[in-house]
Amino acid sequence: MDERIKQIRELLDGIEKDIDTGEDKAFVRNFDAFELPNIISNIVQYLQPILKPYEACIYWHMFNKAILRTGQQSCRVSSYSLQNGVVLSRSGQSESLSQESTRIGLKGLEEKGAILKSGETNREGTLYKVLLPEEIPACLIIMKNAIKSPVVNSVNEKKEMDFYNITENRLQIFERDEYRCHYCNKQLTRFTATLDHIQPVSEGGDNSADNLITACLHCNSRRGSRPVMDMIQLPGTSTSQQLEIYSHGHL
Ligand SMILES: [Zn+2]
Repeated sequence: MDERIKQIRELLDGIEKDIDTGEDKAFVRNFDAFELPNIISNIVQYLQPILKPYEACIYWHMFNKAILRTGQQSCRVSSYSLQNGVVLSRSGQSESLSQESTRIGLKGLEEKGAILKSGETNREGTLYKVLLPEEIPACLIIMKNAIKSPVVNSVNEKKEMDFYNITENRLQIFERDEYRCHYCNKQLTRFTATLDHIQPVSEGGDNSADNLITACLHCNSRRGSRPVMDMIQLPGTSTSQQLEIYSHGHL
């Protein structure tokens, strides 16, 4: 009898695993390692300020479990699994959170739109989708305000502003260039766009808006400090032909 129950349990576990894989596939988004610093910075800037301490801890735990560990936006957690090893309790006297604290934390994250319940609960917990700031309405409002706030009055003032290091200013350049790579015209997102100096800093170029253009990471790193005109893709040339042009100056 015991043996049969064991077999049935194993079968059920197998079925559950299959279901999990099916559910998880819905959220596969191949996160590029290059995107992560930006994503993390946006979470700290735009999501964390609207979270309570336990909510923030639980969110980072789930972010790690989902996006960093699997490259997917979903993970399964139970209130029980969050009680140990996520963060000390508020008083610091107990090493584990109460079941109530984790339940309230999960509920708070759901209400703020930071996580989304996306599957049935099984013995390993509930399947959640972990959302990123660009997908969370409350964060989008903060982001929009952050972009609006720098007021540009005169050309001189504009020149003085650092459009390279200040995130809100960077976004203005991306918007000006409609999130397209200046070199290959690839459509980019806030997470994949990078800024390139027209006149390299090493040659006296500054961080003014006039000296910066939107580029994909590929073109940006390929360009190094070559003059911009060398990089613009000539119509009807392949990448290998382009490389020829770069190394010899002509086809
Ligand atoms: Zn490009």
